[in-house]
Amino acid sequence: MPETPAFVYDQTAIDRTLSTFEEAAAGSGPRLLYSVKSFPFLPLLRRIAPRVDGLSASSLFEARLCAEALAGRGGLHITTPGFRPGEIDEIGRLCDFVSFNSLEQFDRWSARMEGTASVGLRVNPQLSFAPDPRYDPCRPHSKLGVPLDRLVPAEVGRLERLEGIHFHTVFDCASFEPLAEILAKLENKLGERLKRLRWLNLGGGYRLEGDLGRLAGFSTRLQRDYGLEVYFEPGKAVIGSAGYLVASVIDVFNSGGKTVAVLDSSINHHPEVFEYQRSPRLAEVCEEGRETAILAGGTCLAGDLFGEYALPTRPRIGDRLVFEDVGAYTLVKANRFNGHNLPSIYRWDGEALHLEQSYGYEDYRRQWGGEPAAQ
Ligand SMILES: *Cc1c(COP(=O)(O)O)cnc(C)c1O
Repeated sequence: MPETPAFVYDQTAIDRTLSTFEEAAAGSGPRLLYSVKSFPFLPLLRRIAPRVDGLSASSLFEARLCAEALAGRGGLHITTPGFRPGEIDEIGRLCDFVSFNSLEQFDRWSARMEGTASVGLRVNPQLSFAPDPRYDPCRPHSKLGVPLDRLVPAEVGRLERLEGIHFHTVFDCASFEPLAEILAKLENKLGERLKRLRWLNLGGGYRLEGDLGRLAGFSTRLQRDYGLEVYFEPGKAVIGSAGYLVASVIDVFNSGGKTVAVLDSSINHHPEVFEYQRSPRLAEVCEEGRETAILAGGTCLAGDLFGEYALPTRPRIGDRLVFEDVGAYTLVKANRFNGHNLPSIYRWDGEALHLEQSYGYEDYRRQWGGEPAAQ
């Protein structure tokens, strides 16, 4: 049993996901990249590097970590609205594929990629599929990518260094229908000009439980019709359902007629609970649970609540609770609010748990100005 709070990732689940993808994409299916930002954990990156065609990053630090994990094997892709003057040359050296977010950035930096990285452009297909504008890259006045309207073939003709196009438009999407619509729009808009490109990056945001045959079919057709290398870069689909947050109950009491169980974790270990008003799924929850309890984080914020859950029995001090499907966008957004420690990270290999990372008071102290301990 892990010490809590703990973040556990199931290596066997990740391996299964990668195998399923490999089978579906065998032949001319898209090349698989893991988009690391949802869980950029170096031991995991090293483990999956041999099984993917590369990694995708969104910043210089992520790119450095990816380069370390890839150790010369596989391609490193990057796109971000935030390339800075002081880092652009290192970005070019580290990355194999650099997609600029605007025509302005393209004009400013693309020549600097000469001889080091293949130059692409992130486009905004201007088709919205996300229900919430906070995570819709195609929202009105979006900052993400060149609106396809601006990318008339004449404009593209001017971009002689352009070798690839990148788009990323959906979040946690179960169907590949948005992809079909985007590709139709892109082909309609750019037509034969696509033949002069080398690659197309379809982004991530899709779940992999859907019709992978359909995804592979898009890739096969794009290769056949335009000679494009096709990349697909999911993050959450690789790590989301493989990750668990394990917490212990440290207090239970009644408040205004409801049971409140205080945990040794908090929504600061899963900030999207608060950001997007989600309630993570709990393993113990039972359909006709006789007891309901509010599961509360242990910080001073009144709204630090995971939600109200139906449980088989009233929670007791010392009980372990396991939140499921929380592998993505949890620890990477976690903070030490109230001076609470971050969860330890464990890997499950199908037989045993392995502690791979833990944090302590020294890490906290260093974050808040403590000089390194004298040796
Ligand atoms: C976040 C992101 C991804 C991965 O998204 P998931 O929802 O985790 O699959 C892929 N590409 C780009 C450009 C991204 O910003």
